[in-house]
Amino acid sequence: MIPEPDCRLCGLCSGRTNIVLPDGNPGSGIVFVGEAPGENEDLEGRPFVGRSGKILDGMMAEAGFGRKDVLITNTVKCRPPSNRDPTAEEMAACRPFLESELKDARLVVGLGKSACRDLMGYEGPMAAIANRMT
Ligand code: SF4
Repeated sequence: MIPEPDCRLCGLCSGRTNIVLPDGNPGSGIVFVGEAPGENEDLEGRPFVGRSGKILDGMMAEAGFGRKDVLITNTVKCRPPSNRDPTAEEMAACRPFLESELKDARLVVGLGKSACRDLMGYEGPMAAIANRMT
C-alpha cells in the first residue's frame, strides 16, 4: 500500500516536492525505519540519500550488506518543514503506509527518536534504548 501521488491525508503535503517511498528489498524481512525525509530526500524522492544516508550506507557496507538486503523507509513519507520532528497526528495519518511496509517484517530497526516513538510509543531518552533489542 503506497500513498496516492497527490496524498493530502496530513498537512505535510503542502511543503513537499516528492513523496518519499521506501527503497530496497520489500521481501527481505528486515525494515529500517527513519524519522522523516530531509531536504535531499524530498528533492530526490528516495529515503536516506543525504548525510545520514551516507552514514547508514557506510555502516551497512562495513557489516557486509547493503540496500538490496533491507527495506529502508520513514515514519512519514513527506518532509516536515525545516526538518522538525513529525507530529503524532502526521505519523498517525501516514501509519497505514508504514504498517503495510512492516507486515512481513521479521526485524524492524528504528533509526532515531521519532521512529522509536512511532513504532513503540517510547518517549524517553535515546541513550536508554540505543542498541537494544526489544
Ligand atoms: S506524510 Fe504521509 S499521510 Fe501525510 S501527506 Fe505525506 S504521504 Fe500523505
